[in-house]
Amino acid sequence: MATKRDYYEVLGIRREATLEDIKKAYRQLAMKNHPDRNPGDAEAELRFKEAAEAYQILSDEGNRQKYDRYGHAGLQSGPASAAPEDIMSAFGEIFQNAFFGDMFGQRRRGPKPGADLAIKLEIDLLEAAKGVSKTITMNRGEPCRSCNGSGARKGTVATTCTYCGGQGQVIQSRGFFQVATTCPACGGEGMRIADPCPDCRGTGRTQEKVQLDVEVPPGVDTGIWLQIRNQGELGDPGAPRGNLRIQIHVKPHDVFERRGNDIVCQFPIHFSQAALGAEIEVPTLDGREKLNIPRGTQSGEVFRMRSKGIPDVNGRGRGDELIEVVVETPRHLSVRQEELLREFAELDHESVMPRQKSFFEKLRGYFTESDDATTRSEEKS
Ligand SMILES: [Zn+2]
Ligand SMILES: [Zn+2]
Repeated sequence: MATKRDYYEVLGIRREATLEDIKKAYRQLAMKNHPDRNPGDAEAELRFKEAAEAYQILSDEGNRQKYDRYGHAGLQSGPASAAPEDIMSAFGEIFQNAFFGDMFGQRRRGPKPGADLAIKLEIDLLEAAKGVSKTITMNRGEPCRSCNGSGARKGTVATTCTYCGGQGQVIQSRGFFQVATTCPACGGEGMRIADPCPDCRGTGRTQEKVQLDVEVPPGVDTGIWLQIRNQGELGDPGAPRGNLRIQIHVKPHDVFERRGNDIVCQFPIHFSQAALGAEIEVPTLDGREKLNIPRGTQSGEVFRMRSKGIPDVNGRGRGDELIEVVVETPRHLSVRQEELLREFAELDHESVMPRQKSFFEKLRGYFTESDDATTRSEEKS
């Protein structure tokens, strides 16, 4: 809406209108423009929303005062863009007993589904990679066993509400319209309980500890939510349960570190293996596997094992495993080992390792520069 119409103009009322006037004007407009009566009519929907918004503001003493004084600018936090559904649920209650009141409740009439339940599930990295079946325990409402969920004391029955004939609503005629409202006698349940079940106090449900098997698909990571339909809280009789929402938490692993769908493993090798090359056995998600380390491998070098990582949770292939080698220098040497190493060092005098060479070249350059600097400063003093 580019420009907002004046709320009094929208409802077609004078500034000094009473709350009753506002209600009356709004009812008329809402009846006329209700989306259910004007399917596909965008203009009517706009008028309907406009009227709802105007009513919401003007029917509230505080908001009306703000609006009177400052106009639309005074209501920055107002319900400027409420969806029709929100409007309808917000107003359904206001007009509960008004003749067209339940028209707003139409979309949600009938037994209410249960609420969603949320729980946390901790699994380890291998379970996350392979997928796992877990038994979870939770507290949730279950149909009361004493009364089978009827709410009536054992041996008695809930009787059909005579006022509405079990329909849960009553139809009233108003001019051209027939309007249904919630049955005042049974509150919409359609049943009446003369003698309530003592175990559930007539609610038909008790809080129970239940176990449920959950299939966790391969590839899940910390923070992912799994949803299991109709395993949440109990709904009204005849309505489905809410959904069960499970938040996954993957415990850190001793050997593997996860990066997206890749896993990283730091693997220590002996310095002679690094120098001469070696075939090593590395851990993977599928067990041990052989990996060739070429001659002259440096510490920190990474070897990629394709498709040995974690399967993508959406089925798009599999990550890699990255083996990061850490070259270990022996701390203790036997006499013979030391002899050989000293001999090696003597032989090596001429052939310095490549990285070392360039490092020492850089270092020589550094020393020369700083020596010059020192010399110059000495000359000055
Ligand atoms: Zn019971
Ligand atoms: Zn009834």
